[in-house]
Amino acid sequence: MSQSSALRVYEQVEAEPMSLFSAKDFDNHEHISFFCDPKTGLKTIIAIHNTKRGPALGGCRMWSYASEEEAITDALRLSKGMTYKAAMADLPLGGGKSVIIGDSNKDKSAALFEKMGECVQSLNGQYIIAEDVGVTTDDVAHMAKKTKYAVGLAKKSGDPSPVTAYGVYKGLKAAMRTRLGHENVRDVKFALQGVGHVGMEILKLLFEDGLLARNGQQVYICDINESYVKKAVDNYGVIPVPTDKIYDQNVDVFVPCALGAIINDRTIPRLKASIVAGCANNQLAENRHGSILRERNILYAPDYVINAGGLINVYHELNDQPHYNRQKALDHVLGIYDTLQEVFEMSQKQSMPTNQAADMIAEKRFKQPPSGGGLAAA
Ligand code: NAD
Repeated sequence: MSQSSALRVYEQVEAEPMSLFSAKDFDNHEHISFFCDPKTGLKTIIAIHNTKRGPALGGCRMWSYASEEEAITDALRLSKGMTYKAAMADLPLGGGKSVIIGDSNKDKSAALFEKMGECVQSLNGQYIIAEDVGVTTDDVAHMAKKTKYAVGLAKKSGDPSPVTAYGVYKGLKAAMRTRLGHENVRDVKFALQGVGHVGMEILKLLFEDGLLARNGQQVYICDINESYVKKAVDNYGVIPVPTDKIYDQNVDVFVPCALGAIINDRTIPRLKASIVAGCANNQLAENRHGSILRERNILYAPDYVINAGGLINVYHELNDQPHYNRQKALDHVLGIYDTLQEVFEMSQKQSMPTNQAADMIAEKRFKQPPSGGGLAAA
């Protein structure tokens, strides 16, 4: 842990009593900052989990948290997840995340995000901010007026979703190779939950790969947003099913692209798929669900490995000289295929669930500096 590790309070946020250093999710975070600016209404927590491999990079989430404790817990969990994701993608980056307490539909202003930019700047590059739930590329642009440590700008790497989808698509093939012995999507049936930014892009890639052009009837989809469902059906001929029926489809691959915690005690017994591989964050309700999937012979592609394309994309915005190169980012994302193969092999050889194998590889990596040196821009 660095010497600067501390709970830093700029203006004391009125907090409910809770333990921090002994909190379940604290997990040796290096640095947690609390910032408050009554003028703009900004109340934010920046959590830096681990910077052994490089500066902590992670998005900023704006959410109407039910309590400050919930906001702190979210920041801690999300930042830890970024450490694992960066290490598995072999990036010279650490893990961090920020949360803004507020309603993204009502409480946003340019001034609030500029203030957020000042907070990030005051950490002198230990933390690099990007977008997350409730925060758009426009908001990041406001932050970038006050800090040089903001990435995912529309005029640079832009929306990461197509790159994330590309990584998930390659990951699907790695899982198919391992479990089904081939990568031919035309012989495989899919159930895709959530056809938002990433899910719709995955359909496009399936289409381009020849599956949907020939037989869209092999893909079942659902979404709570009817207009997205209609778009997917109109464009790709997929079969819509009610959201609560997506787990029951007679398919080979279940592709979660909406919510977290959807792999749980209630859903696992319903799955007929032999592969679970999709972009959604925190798919397992609890770690033990990885073991249950394994017992049922369902191959799980750990979420933070298969969905790292977005992070790899913003890394290229930071690192590419003289400027961001989309093709370089896409080439880099291809590595997700090999990383997943490594995870699957370790899981097989050591008879352990794939989520545990991924955690072990990541933990080994983030205890030491990256092999290929640090950021070009650092
Ligand atoms: P999105 O909001 O564009 O898409 C999510 C879709 O899920 C929406 O269309 C929403 O209507 C739908 N949905 C919500 N609840 C649902 C339910 N109960 N049943 C069916 N559909 C439901 O988000 P996205 O950017 O496509 O991201 C999807 C997931 O992937 C999220 O968990 C996100 O955290 C994760 N992720 C995204 C990226 C990225 O680059 N966008 C990167 C890494 C991880």
